[in-house]
Amino acid sequence: MKILVIGSGGREHTLVWKLKQCATVSRLYCAPGNPGIAALGECVPIQVDQIKALRDFALEKQVDLTVVGPEVPLTLGIVDEFRQVGLQIIGPDAKAAQLEGSKSYAKDFMVKYGIPTGRYEKAHTMEEALYLLQDFSLPVVIKADGLAAGKGVLICQTPDEARQAVVDILVNQVFGEAGSHLVIEEFLEGIETSVLCFVDGETILPMASSQDHKRIGDGDTGPNTGGMGTYSPNRVYTNAMARQVKEKILIPTLRGIQQEKMDFRGILFVGLMITHEGPKVLEYNVRFGDPETQVVMPRLKTDLCKVFSQMLNRNLSRLQLEWKPEVAVCAVLASGGYPGDYATGIPISGLEEVAEDILVFHAGTGMKEEQLVTAGGRVLNVTALAPTVDEAREKVYNAVERITFEGKTYRRDIGLT
Ligand code: AMP
Repeated sequence: MKILVIGSGGREHTLVWKLKQCATVSRLYCAPGNPGIAALGECVPIQVDQIKALRDFALEKQVDLTVVGPEVPLTLGIVDEFRQVGLQIIGPDAKAAQLEGSKSYAKDFMVKYGIPTGRYEKAHTMEEALYLLQDFSLPVVIKADGLAAGKGVLICQTPDEARQAVVDILVNQVFGEAGSHLVIEEFLEGIETSVLCFVDGETILPMASSQDHKRIGDGDTGPNTGGMGTYSPNRVYTNAMARQVKEKILIPTLRGIQQEKMDFRGILFVGLMITHEGPKVLEYNVRFGDPETQVVMPRLKTDLCKVFSQMLNRNLSRLQLEWKPEVAVCAVLASGGYPGDYATGIPISGLEEVAEDILVFHAGTGMKEEQLVTAGGRVLNVTALAPTVDEAREKVYNAVERITFEGKTYRRDIGLT
């Protein structure tokens, strides 16, 4: 089997690493990939939004299965494009991808199918937004409707901040096209968690739980990032909570997918707030989480190719996923200055000193004259498995100390909170 993975981050490195273990895989391509992925498969210089070029590549190389990492190609309709020419691909069709691509579409869907979520309103103009805001207490959440690389959510503490958020999104267009309209949302208080699921349109199969650490600083301080680390399983996500989420959220979501006639054979990632009234949905993502994948996939014992092939045949109900009992911890090493401005092209050293049982997934790395260098905000993801979270943390941080690059930034409390 020839497989193409689309994307270039730590999530895609993890997927390529996991797929390489499948008995049936003969060849692995990744577009565009990164230097870590290049050690496992062939990197192809096609960007993730070049849908037609990706399709033509998959046709030319007779790729048997394509797995999409990031959301952008999904919302651009890559799944429909591939399936039209008979190519097998994992992901939701363009209609289902709106669950991530448009926050108002997702909120309307949740209300239609009785899925618990915060109260919300949509607004297209500033006047409309300011009028609707009067009905919300503070803090209030204001979101650009479209994809904004995880940055389009503003939590406003004062009326002035809320007004400024509306001006920034609708008038100053700081999120571009993504902010042509916005969603005003009730602020939900509680413990945030998320659940990743395999979906085939008839069955929704939750994966092992995990917990992301979003803020840049220890103790959840400082600005939000793409994610500074994860651990799995999540100690907040008890079996009782899993049952509640399945009954109140996952099953109604699946019913909605069916009734809307979406072709959803892919990954659904539900962002949740566990409030005193029970779990409520903050958002849907229609792909693997990054860096959740970096702890969930190393714990999956089941062959991932088998999961994907059952998914494409709508046979997930027959599959029993198997998980390693060990705890996985992943720390993200970021560039100095991230999530603000940061330099790139800084030499990275010490990778060869990391113990063999540590997984180092590349995110923003590049090659400059045979030297591995930084090439993005999040640079490397260091994952370890161990019987306890403390042991896994010790292994991770031992490895983290050995890897050096100027400005290296990371959280020391991954897995503690
Ligand atoms: P989203 O991309 O919609 O998940 O929003 C990004 C982050 O903003 C979430 O992970 C939460 O931390 C926060 N957030 C979003 N919506 C709400 C809400 N209604 N109440 C509280 N926090 C929220």
